[in-house]
Amino acid sequence: MDKNTRICIIGAGPAGLSAGMYLEQKGYENYTILERNDHVGGKCHSPHYNGRRYEMGAIMGVPSYYAVHDVEEFCGITHDGPKLNRNYKNKEGKVIEPFNPKKNLLKIPHLMEMKKQVKKLGEILETKYKGYDVNGHRGVAEGRYDGYAVTPGREKVSGENPNLKDLALPFKDFCKLNGVEFTQEIWIGPFTSFGYGYFDEIPAAYVLKYLDFQTCMNFVNINLWTWKEGTQYIWECLDAKLKNHARLNSNITKVERKDGKVYVTVNGEVEEYDKLIVTAPLQYLPDYADARADEKELFSKIEYERYDVLAVETKPEDHPEISYYVFDNMTPDRLGHLMVYYRRWRDTKDQVITTYALRKHKNTAEIPYEDCKKTVLEDLKIMKNPASNVVNEQSWYYFPHVFSEDYAAGWYDKVEAMQGKYDTYYAGEVMSFGDMDETAEYSRELVDRFF
Ligand SMILES: Cc1cc2nc3c(=O)[nH]c(=O)nc-3n(C[C@H](O)[C@H](O)[C@H](O)COP(=O)(O)OP(=O)(O)OC[C@H]3O[C@@H](n4cnc5c(N)ncnc54)[C@H](O)[C@@H]3O)c2cc1C
Repeated sequence: MDKNTRICIIGAGPAGLSAGMYLEQKGYENYTILERNDHVGGKCHSPHYNGRRYEMGAIMGVPSYYAVHDVEEFCGITHDGPKLNRNYKNKEGKVIEPFNPKKNLLKIPHLMEMKKQVKKLGEILETKYKGYDVNGHRGVAEGRYDGYAVTPGREKVSGENPNLKDLALPFKDFCKLNGVEFTQEIWIGPFTSFGYGYFDEIPAAYVLKYLDFQTCMNFVNINLWTWKEGTQYIWECLDAKLKNHARLNSNITKVERKDGKVYVTVNGEVEEYDKLIVTAPLQYLPDYADARADEKELFSKIEYERYDVLAVETKPEDHPEISYYVFDNMTPDRLGHLMVYYRRWRDTKDQVITTYALRKHKNTAEIPYEDCKKTVLEDLKIMKNPASNVVNEQSWYYFPHVFSEDYAAGWYDKVEAMQGKYDTYYAGEVMSFGDMDETAEYSRELVDRFF
């Protein structure tokens, strides 16, 4: 493609800004990033409180965040944040140690079997499901893999593996099929409580591409990255470093693609481009663009989660010692309850803590926002860490994905076949997975494949 191609990127979250970086590194400097908010970072959102930053959105990474590391290197920054620590409580607020055999004598056989199954899952992922962990979902529904390995060298890998079709099953059924049901008790912590839905509804492909074996073990061993100035800082630094900074407060009211050109109406003015990269939620593209029948049909299948975050103050005597996971509240029958609460700074009690709850599940009525908030605040009281005040709250449009039927019917291959068709490329969370690294890595591959 001509290096002077005029490229419009919609969205200045991790996907859009990293697309800008990879384009620039490949010699494309004629790109424009349009962001509707008055700040960059998207769901990496780190507001200030009492002189420090806390996280309303993304919190952490793992050492295999290679694309995020590309950004760190490009910007000369590093993951310099507070060390994460956690403990567990049951739904009555009692501190428990569910994985410690010495504290759970009666559960020893169960814990031994769980350990065996975790080992077995690790083995079958490397053998029976070879190729499961490449970024993106190309070919999976047809029993193929094609992409970059999650290794420091990020080698390009591709091949046939009919077993990969099993990844379309909900993770619960996938585990049953492979006799590794107990592994869900380990994977659920960094999956459901991080807002990615329940194992009876979410295809195994999402669970295992994000929580590939090594990444899951990094969560288990708390081998994690955080950023002192918050995850938003990563993307603020990237935006500052790019030759073309994101244009904030851009209200896009129309996108028209005709005669090999893309016309974008921004704040009332029509701008002309050659190519479009959409990193904003694809299901809303038809609201402002001349979406074609295939785009409308495919993007209408996208589902999403409602993940609610509260930032609360507590009295110093009520401040939690550490972050807590409440496993009892990570099943659909406890929808709308507090699943995790997070204490970011250990050296002071004058900071907020943040709470996390899901209120959407495939087979259950969505819980209204205010009801969920009330439940979470009640749960904090049960945990003996009552809030004295809510200082910030956000209900996120979270983790866009498709369900098993559409996944198995080849949703991803149909969307991938449309890449470039209308001078338009699709990136962002739904194309890979809803975390910082998978979205940035997908943008890297998109630039590599098409530009
Ligand atoms: C509570 C929470 C916790 C999380 N924890 C983690 C974590 O610990 N680790 C991790 O890696 N990830 C985490 N994530 C997920 C991570 O933040 C997202 O997956 C990532 O930000 C997705 O990047 P994106 O660019 O695809 O989308 P987004 O971050 O959603 O960015 C999209 C951007 O597009 C803009 N936009 C939307 N529509 C338009 C439009 N019409 N015109 C112009 N601009 C538009 C939005 O304003 C936004 O800035 C978390 C997210 C949340 C909410």
